Amino acid sequence: MDEKLEITPQEKQEIILRGIPASAGIVMGHAHIFTKHIPRVEEKVILLDDAPKEIERLRHAVERSEKELSKILSYAEQKIGNSKAKIFEAEIMILNDVVLFEAIYNRIANELKNAEFVVHDEITKYQRLMLESSDEYMRERTHDVEDVKNRIIRNIQQEKLISRFAGRSIIVSQSLTPADTILFSRNEILAYVTDMGGVTSHAALLSRSLKIPAVVGLKEATKHVQEGDFMIVDGYGGTVVLNPSETTIKEYEVRNKRYIEFEKRLNDLRDLPAKTLDGQRVELSCNIEFAEEINFVDAQGSDGIGLYRAEGLLMGRDTFPTEDEQYREYNLIAEKCYPRKVIMRTFDIGGDKVVSQAGEEENPFLGWRGIRIGLDRPEIFVTQLRAMLRASVKKNVWVMFPMVANVKEVRKAKILVEHAKSSLRSQHIPFDEEMKIGVMIEVPSAAVMAGDIANEVGFLSIGTNDLIQYLLAVDRGNENVSELYQEFDPAVIRTIHHIIKEAHEHHIPVGMCGEMAGDPVATLLLLGLGIDELSVIPTVLPEIKKIIRSVRLKEAKRIAAQALKLSTEDEVKEFLKAHVKRVSPDIPMSETE
Ligand code: PEP
Ligand code: MG
Repeated sequence: MDEKLEITPQEKQEIILRGIPASAGIVMGHAHIFTKHIPRVEEKVILLDDAPKEIERLRHAVERSEKELSKILSYAEQKIGNSKAKIFEAEIMILNDVVLFEAIYNRIANELKNAEFVVHDEITKYQRLMLESSDEYMRERTHDVEDVKNRIIRNIQQEKLISRFAGRSIIVSQSLTPADTILFSRNEILAYVTDMGGVTSHAALLSRSLKIPAVVGLKEATKHVQEGDFMIVDGYGGTVVLNPSETTIKEYEVRNKRYIEFEKRLNDLRDLPAKTLDGQRVELSCNIEFAEEINFVDAQGSDGIGLYRAEGLLMGRDTFPTEDEQYREYNLIAEKCYPRKVIMRTFDIGGDKVVSQAGEEENPFLGWRGIRIGLDRPEIFVTQLRAMLRASVKKNVWVMFPMVANVKEVRKAKILVEHAKSSLRSQHIPFDEEMKIGVMIEVPSAAVMAGDIANEVGFLSIGTNDLIQYLLAVDRGNENVSELYQEFDPAVIRTIHHIIKEAHEHHIPVGMCGEMAGDPVATLLLLGLGIDELSVIPTVLPEIKKIIRSVRLKEAKRIAAQALKLSTEDEVKEFLKAHVKRVSPDIPMSETE
C-alpha cells in the first residue's frame, strides 16, 4: 500500500546574531530587507556631437541630486537638529566641488565616454584612497561619498528612489547611509539592523537621535535574514534573535517590560541628588558630543556635563572651525548648562576618531593623537583654548586634555593656556581667570604618574575606554579580541584605585568619564574607591543614580576593599554583580542578570 507522504513545514531555527548596540530599545517585528540599488554602470563611447548633450544630462542629474539632498537636509534639521544634519551639508559640498566636476566634464568632452561611467570612475578613485586609510572615521565616510556617487548616477539614469514602504518593519541591510536612515524614518521603522558599521558610524548616531533601536556590525545579518522573517532586536545588548522560539519571545517581553517599568520608576528620581544612604554626595553628570543633547541631559536630572567631546564639531568638514564658530557652540553649551558645570575636552583627534592628517599611521592609537597634536599645532590648540576660555565667563566651564602621557606635556599645555589667557586679556575679552584645567588619565604612564600630574592641575578624569585598551594591550575596536577587553581586570581596578588615591592625596577631585562609569556593575566599586564624579551616557544616568541612593558609603568602601584583593576579572565581576543585585535588585541590565 502506498504510504501517504506528509510534508510538514520545517520549523525555522532560532539564530542569535551578535553585533554592536548602536541605539537602545527592544523591539520585535518582521524584517524588510533593504538591498541597495547599485546602479549598473557600463562604459560607452559617445559621438563627438553628443558630448554637450551628455554634459547637460550630468548637470541636470547633479542639480536633481542637490535638490534631493537639500530636502533631506531640511528634514534632518527638523528631526535631529542643525549640527547633526551637517552630514548632509557635507554631501552637498561634494556636489559643489568645482575641481572634481571640472575633471569629470573634461573627461566626457575629451575621452568621449558616457557621463555615468566617468562619474563612477572619478569618484571611486577618491573612495579608494579613503578606504585605504587606517582611520576608522575616514573609512566610515566612504559610505557618505558612495551615497553621493550613486545618487548622481541614479539621477543620470533617471531612476526613482523607493524610500516609502507599507507596514511597520525592521530594516535589515548591509549598510545604511545617513540619507537612508533619515529618509526611512518617515516610515514606521521599528529598528535598524546592519552588517556593517560601528558605533561611530553616522547611521548609528542618527538612529540614536531618532530614538530608533539599532544593532550594527552584525557582519552576516543579510545572509541569514529573509524578507518577512520574524525577529527580535535588542539595542541594549547588541543582539538580534532571528526566528525566536516562544520561550525567547516571552523572555524578551519580560525583559522589555522590566526596562520600560524601570525607566518609568527612574523618572521619580530625576530631581533627587545622587547621594548615598549615609549622605555622601557624588556628582553624576553626562557625556555629550553635540549641543542638542543638552535637552536630553536635562530630562535625566544630571548634575552637569562631565565630558563634552568637541570632535562633534569637526564632523562632516575638512577644515577646522574658526574661534568664533567654536565659541558659539561652547558658549551655547555653557549657557544651557548654567549654573551646572561643563567639562570640555580639547580635540581628541587621531586614534579611531577624526582624521589626523598624519597620513597613514601603522599604529594610529599609539600615534599622533589628542594632546600630541595640540602641542605640535599650537595655532589650532590656542584657538580652541581661547574659544573655551571665552565661554567660561560664567565660571561653569572646566577644560581638560586627552591622551596625556607625561608631566612635560601637561606643563607645555599649561603654557599655551597662559598664552591664550594673556592674548584675551590684552584684547580685553572677558573669561574666567580661575577656570580649572584638568587631565584625562587614559594612558598607563599617566596613571602611574597620577600624583605628579595632580600636582600640576585642578582635577583628573579617568578615561577607562582608552586606559583599559592601553593597560591590557587590547584594541578597543577590534572584535577579535573584544573578549579580552575586560574592565574588571584586577590590573584595571587597582590602577583606578591608585589614580583616585593620588588625586586625593594632592587634594584635587577625580572623576571618571569612560564607559565604565555608566556600568551598574562598577558603581559600588567606584563609590567605595572614593570617586568624586561619574560622567555617563544620558540613558544610563537614572540607573546609576538609583544604585548610589541604595547603599551606604561605608558598605561600598568595604566592598571595594574586598574587590581589590581578588585576582581575576571573573572573580571581581561575580563579586560585584552579587552586591549590586543585593542592594538594587530591580536593575534590569543584562550584565547583572
Ligand atoms: C575614554 O577614553 O575613556 C574616553 C572617555 O574618551 P574617548 O572614549 O572619547 O576616547
Ligand atoms: Mg579616550
